[in-house]
Amino acid sequence: MGRGLVVVGVAVTVAVTACAVAAVVVGKRVKSRRKWRRVVGVLAELEQGCETTVGRLKQVVDAMAVEMHAGLASEGGSKLKMLLTFVDTLPNGSEKGIYYALHLGGTNFRVLRVQLGGQRSILEPDVERQPIPQHLMTSTSEELFDFIASSLKEFVEKEGDGSDTSLMRRRDLGFTFSFPVKQTSVSTGILIKWTKGFGIEDMVGREVSECLEQAMARKGLNMLVAALVNDTVGTLALGHYHDPDTIAAVIIGTGTNACYLERTDAIIKCQGLLTTSGGMVSFLYVSRQTSSDSLSDELIYFVIYLLTLTYLHLHQVVNMEWGNFWSSHLPRTSYDIELDADSPNPNDQGFEKMISGMYLGDIVRRVILRMSHEADIFGDALPKLSMPFILRTPLMAEMHEDDSPELTEVARILKDTLEIPDVPLKVRKLVVKVCDVVTRRAARLAAAGIVGILKKIGRDGSGGITGGRSRSDIKMKRTVVAIEGGLYTSYTMFREYLHEAMIEILGEEAAQHVILKVTEDGSGVGAALLAATHSSDHVDNVQLL
Ligand code: ADP
Ligand code: MG
Repeated sequence: MGRGLVVVGVAVTVAVTACAVAAVVVGKRVKSRRKWRRVVGVLAELEQGCETTVGRLKQVVDAMAVEMHAGLASEGGSKLKMLLTFVDTLPNGSEKGIYYALHLGGTNFRVLRVQLGGQRSILEPDVERQPIPQHLMTSTSEELFDFIASSLKEFVEKEGDGSDTSLMRRRDLGFTFSFPVKQTSVSTGILIKWTKGFGIEDMVGREVSECLEQAMARKGLNMLVAALVNDTVGTLALGHYHDPDTIAAVIIGTGTNACYLERTDAIIKCQGLLTTSGGMVSFLYVSRQTSSDSLSDELIYFVIYLLTLTYLHLHQVVNMEWGNFWSSHLPRTSYDIELDADSPNPNDQGFEKMISGMYLGDIVRRVILRMSHEADIFGDALPKLSMPFILRTPLMAEMHEDDSPELTEVARILKDTLEIPDVPLKVRKLVVKVCDVVTRRAARLAAAGIVGILKKIGRDGSGGITGGRSRSDIKMKRTVVAIEGGLYTSYTMFREYLHEAMIEILGEEAAQHVILKVTEDGSGVGAALLAATHSSDHVDNVQLL
């Protein structure tokens, strides 16, 4: 009897323990399922927030075209600055001679020598790259430009026999200066402000080419700045040199920007401010300035001026500074809002912060950080994941494009870069999905931006922004957009999503006439080409655009 009771007692204890263990296991599972559901919820919310249906992309296209109009109509009329470049002539392949380029746009500068043989031939350029010593970035303009001029002189001396006569010969230089500049002619412009770690106060408000030319003169180097350009303009020049149907250039690298060829009569805000080569029109403008003393004369001159522009079909390259584009149609998430608020330039460069290489990795980092906060999918302490910009875009691209069945690259990057070891496969898949959503949105928005430019100039097959004609009446012209930048050229998935969206927005038929052509190193070779086109040696036989 007593033994029987003991047996029953043991059996009950075992059963209770088993139930308790089962309850704990089930409880854990339920908890973990709940957590997983929360993570999946974060992903679903992200997908919804980043949605770029064709309908929405078309709204972005229209917004881009409208903002372009507004930016051309008046100074400050839009977040798009639509800067005049005074470049009214692009290289056409007939250029001959030796030209130089200097690219200053960050901690390194580059000098190039390009030999042009006519008939679209460029001999392999000589290139030299040098870091700018840190202390010169915040010293005086004289010190900075003396240093650059010395390097340039050394580079030039390698070309000839180094004799004094060789140095006396005048050379033309294309100067790519990747800082905000208010252009005053094709070869001159005033520095608005420094960015990227430079801070030479005496330089702000001064004419950039003059500073360089004075330094070159001090070093005994006979060189003239024939063109002062932005890197997108260099890209357009190089694209146009190889293919005259090139009408726009887009850069999608660390940052993003675009420029395109606009009819001068559409640039309302410049009115009489004309290019150096538009002689006849400049004359009209001068007449208008000097001899009109009544309002009606003024009006007559202005109408003649506009008619002349229209008649001559003059064009000018406009630097859009499209990184600053904004529209309420852009699909913005809480991650974008936080990234912007934490940035040194809040409310600035909104488009760039959604599409360029500087930011995509950090958007992904923010999403997976949120996921780990919501449901510690990566375990406890994650100091690395909380560090801004620790996940660079090329690493994010590597995770996105990891096609191994076990996602070994994803595991490696999470471990090595973010110090998160042993991430389960299903979580690794989730990370890949986040990369996909962020990159797909970026690429599709970039495509909408490009179609926005095409729409503005009536090259999207829809009859332009005010056109009411149907697609079938429009004969599409072959249209080439030069494109460069590491995000586009090195990130296959980004490029493929961008192409796919172009076709979706334009339609298969119209998309066949639009060609995106990779044009590498426009900021170097393209600037040298612009020096050739705008050099006084070449100006006599150029054709206006
Ligand atoms: P920059 O824009 O600085 O002049 P690039 O045009 O070469 O220089 O672009 C570099 C940028 O492109 C990097 O900052 C990075 O964001 C992006 N990038 C470069 N390589 C890759 C890659 N393999 N995958 C994704 N993005 C890349
Ligand atoms: Mg670049």
